[in-house]
Amino acid sequence: MKKIILLLSASFLLFLGFRPIEKIESKPKLVIGIVIDQMRYDYLTRFYDRYSENGFKKLLKNGFSLENAQYNYIPTYTAVGHASIYTGTTPDNHGIISNNWYDKFLKKSIYCVDDSNYKTVGNNSSEGEKSPFRMCTTTITDQLRLAQNMRSKTIGIAIKDRSSILPVGHTANAAYWFDGKDNGQWISSSFYMDELPKWATNFNNSGKANEYLNSSWNTLYELKTYSNSLVDDNIFEGKFKGELTPTFPHDIPTLREKNGNFDILKAIPSGNSFTADFAKAAILGENLGKSNETDFLAISFSSTDYVGHQFGPNSIEIEDTYLRLDKDLADLLTFLDKEIGEDKYTIFLTADHAAVEVPSYLQSLKIPAHYLDIRKLKDSLSSITKKYFNSEELIENVSNYQIFLDKEKIESLGLDKNTVAEKLVDEVVNLEGIYKAVTAKTLQTTRFTDGILNSLQNGYNQKLSGDVMLIPYPATLTQGRTGTSHGSAYSYDTHIPIIFYGNGIKQGVSKKRYNIIDIAPTISNLLKIETPNSTTGIIIEEVLK
Ligand code: ZN
Ligand code: ZN
Repeated sequence: MKKIILLLSASFLLFLGFRPIEKIESKPKLVIGIVIDQMRYDYLTRFYDRYSENGFKKLLKNGFSLENAQYNYIPTYTAVGHASIYTGTTPDNHGIISNNWYDKFLKKSIYCVDDSNYKTVGNNSSEGEKSPFRMCTTTITDQLRLAQNMRSKTIGIAIKDRSSILPVGHTANAAYWFDGKDNGQWISSSFYMDELPKWATNFNNSGKANEYLNSSWNTLYELKTYSNSLVDDNIFEGKFKGELTPTFPHDIPTLREKNGNFDILKAIPSGNSFTADFAKAAILGENLGKSNETDFLAISFSSTDYVGHQFGPNSIEIEDTYLRLDKDLADLLTFLDKEIGEDKYTIFLTADHAAVEVPSYLQSLKIPAHYLDIRKLKDSLSSITKKYFNSEELIENVSNYQIFLDKEKIESLGLDKNTVAEKLVDEVVNLEGIYKAVTAKTLQTTRFTDGILNSLQNGYNQKLSGDVMLIPYPATLTQGRTGTSHGSAYSYDTHIPIIFYGNGIKQGVSKKRYNIIDIAPTISNLLKIETPNSTTGIIIEEVLK
């Protein structure tokens, strides 16, 4: 009798729609995280008509697109972006506060993934002496390995070391990045392995890198059809060394010598194709998606960022780079359908930050935009401390719009560091180019819940960051007059695409505001595993089946 009641109540619960956790067979065989370096959201819409049916459009039509996804911290740089996507939290927690930053304990500038405890794997350069040790938290990729008792595989691939290393966390089987110069090889670090696997060595020996540099960069379609961009020859674009104009065709075979030999491959769309080739080789070589566990491949396309920096968002070069990347994506999707199986894998695609329109171009249109001279700023800061505290030695370092005070000096002069910091804030906003300033003390004692000060707070790490934070006006860069950059919390830097696609993902779009840190908890929920250990993002319920 009891059994019958149990059965009846169980079927009643099922009838009501209570379902046990989805069956384990339904989990994806492979998750592929795709990060496109410096991709603005509007590259999806501006070039939409020119994309093929099987690349971006396929992801948009069959997947779920977030139209108002934003970065929610400062600074919007590559290392920070990749760390935030995969840890599901911001720099105040994960500890990757920039690409390079002033380490106040070591009293020198450091690079986010440098680690001299490890050696290069793949060649004799020092380009492989890297690890993720500065990232203090776990990633979604770590959690997946932990959840499956290290039986699954996690692999990271990107031309940039930081874009390969940070996504795959502390437990990765491998991370690979590209050593250009005269080497032209994919390498790794002894943090992961003692030698490259055979498939990777074979790839390096295949001559592919050279092949890609044997032809000029011409537009994919006729030049005059690029009506979504400015004219090819304009004063807002940077030139390759040895070029007279920033125009097509870019004669790569001739230019490579003056532009770092294999390094030029990073800076042209072929760098993305080359990355996709290596990713496919990794899937085959490592049998990704073929076991009973869920594997993870983190791919980052870095060449988009190099092209963006040099030519800017409104260049034909950027349009052409995205049209070509679309083809690479289409190829990759076809490959995944064949090798892993349709609906057997899950993809998310996003960017590590976006970028501003070239400020000199904005100025030509009478839109406020600025170039800030950092050397002048440093001089002005010294004048302030001289005027109020009779010393020009109170500031130890200025970098990433942060001022690090020399606390020993301040103490030795009988001054109070908070008084110095507050005075700097009062005075520095009077300087040209500086729009806002906040002391570290304020960020420690006040909670900002929205806007740019909330972004500043999310990027402020109590242990690692400086003593005074500066915020420039919108559309401010510190570089020359051509090309672009990124780093701010203004929407041109923060608005990025997020598209989910494949196993477990609904079809649809949302105009709700989501943050970059929401990807990791959403993927954790899809995989039914724990979130990374400091996650502050939320699960985006509407994208999940
Ligand atoms: Zn980047
Ligand atoms: Zn960049």
